Amino acid sequence: MYQVLYRKWRPKVFGDVVGQPHITRTLLSEVRENRLAHAYLFTGSRGTGKTTCAKILSKAINCLNPQNGDPCNECEICRGADNGTLLDIVEIDAASNRGIDDIRLLRDESNFTPAQAAYRVYIIDEVHMLTIEAFNALLKTLEEPPEHVKFILATTEVHKLPSTILSRCQRFDFRRIEPRVIAERLMYVAQRENAVLHEDAAMLIARIADGGMRDALSLLDSAISVSSEVTAAVVSDCAGLMGRDAIYELVRAIAAADTAACLSMLDRLHNASCDTERLVTELTNQFRNFLICKTVEHPENLIVCTQDELAVLRGLADLFTNEQILFSLNVLTGTAESIKRTQNRRVEAEMALIRLCSPETDTDTAALLARISKLEAALAALRANGLPAAPVQTAAPSATSAKAEAPQAEAEEPSVAPQSLAEDAPVASPAAEEEDLFPFEGFGQESAAGGYANAFSEEEEDDAPFDPEELRQARPAPPAPADEPQAEPEKPSAPEPPAKAAAASVPAGGLPDGPVDTKLWNKVIVDLELSFPPLTGMLTSSSAVVSGAVLTVKPAKPLLLGEELIKMKLVPVAEKHLRRKFEIRFKY
Ligand SMILES: [Zn+2]
Repeated sequence: MYQVLYRKWRPKVFGDVVGQPHITRTLLSEVRENRLAHAYLFTGSRGTGKTTCAKILSKAINCLNPQNGDPCNECEICRGADNGTLLDIVEIDAASNRGIDDIRLLRDESNFTPAQAAYRVYIIDEVHMLTIEAFNALLKTLEEPPEHVKFILATTEVHKLPSTILSRCQRFDFRRIEPRVIAERLMYVAQRENAVLHEDAAMLIARIADGGMRDALSLLDSAISVSSEVTAAVVSDCAGLMGRDAIYELVRAIAAADTAACLSMLDRLHNASCDTERLVTELTNQFRNFLICKTVEHPENLIVCTQDELAVLRGLADLFTNEQILFSLNVLTGTAESIKRTQNRRVEAEMALIRLCSPETDTDTAALLARISKLEAALAALRANGLPAAPVQTAAPSATSAKAEAPQAEAEEPSVAPQSLAEDAPVASPAAEEEDLFPFEGFGQESAAGGYANAFSEEEEDDAPFDPEELRQARPAPPAPADEPQAEPEKPSAPEPPAKAAAASVPAGGLPDGPVDTKLWNKVIVDLELSFPPLTGMLTSSSAVVSGAVLTVKPAKPLLLGEELIKMKLVPVAEKHLRRKFEIRFKY
């Protein structure tokens, strides 16, 4: 029968326990000199050897043929303890036996002398899970324990234990095992298992296991089952970890504030079923490494990596200011928290990457500090190198609006221009809308470009809604149901294309079914980009169709962001412009 590695290689004597010499030495001498406490408390994070030491100790004090403090592992008692037939060593999982009745039972039972062994040993795992009443019952036993009973309590969360319990136990704090020590042990085990384990793969496992030997051996186990030659790549695959290179690439994209690159990389990793939570952890670790590189003189003492990696880390760290790194850590740790609670981890990761690339979308202090430090760096560079020649063209409108205007301008024949200005009026000015007046100021602006007089006369002929008086009357009426196109009766003639009609005026009842007019749709996109800049360019040249309560959006190119996120941002903007409530769908 196959036995998992961490069971198979579980140490059987104190000397084999890895990474806890301060504990094993003390226990060994206590057993040897028969200076045993009544109760022991083993604390420390998972997989650090608490249960292993508890098992060895319980055998050692009962062994018929002890070997200088260690159990012989051969006598009747030792073998009985190993295969679970010895009734005097009792393991209790407090997570599932946490009530007072369980502890009362234990207390009553402990009054009887052990059946075979010298001591009856109770190993209570995860003891912090006991209820208050159970703790009180346990305390009574700990206060006056029978001579033949020993308790070994183990917990990962010692702060949850009542001080009354703590004060009655001899306490041992198990440390996280150093990665190097774990890696050595893994190499040893792999060799005995006739598997080839590369050194960097062993270090990688050790790093992922975060000080826990059990996790490390479990990961080695699954790596060996994939391939008898365990390389770092095999480990990465098994752990759902992205390769170092991918992480570094992602970090470079963040440093360059290249949102699109970050998101497409995330998409790639997502499709390669890389674990999003692990990705966030890994990024957090890297930014921590950068901070150490920048602030500590000898980072190699604090960072687990090879010399080559350290050189790469130093180079990457130089891409960021301290404030940027702190901001990034802030974002990433927040994401690590929220990702545990969400259904859609990918959206969380995307939002994190967007925030990392554009601190300007954040307003918290860390983000502002990051931006200030960036400005300071730019200013220092200016001071050092002098001002560059002024650019020839003065600042045009912002990149987003310029971009958005472009398709409109291309689409329009000059002669049609006046129409567009008419179309603008009712839709684009929410402020004016507030005052119950549709704007005429827009006309003035555009008349310079497009001959407003013509437009106005044309308007009067065929577009009734532009009479402000009529609008004023129309507004107080409650909006009609979405699928009843209120606008229809107002339309002058049937053959008018639906797109034009829609754009010309979005009736109070909402846009009628059919394709959304390009110009109107572009307005939606501009507004969307203004409300959430990372979406800039993503829906350029897309189109949309209204049908009942569904707005179908046809993007012109693959979306770099998750649809959920885009929908979230698009819904309010679309509803504002099109005056209907929608469910948004994407169609390619
Ligand atoms: Zn023995």
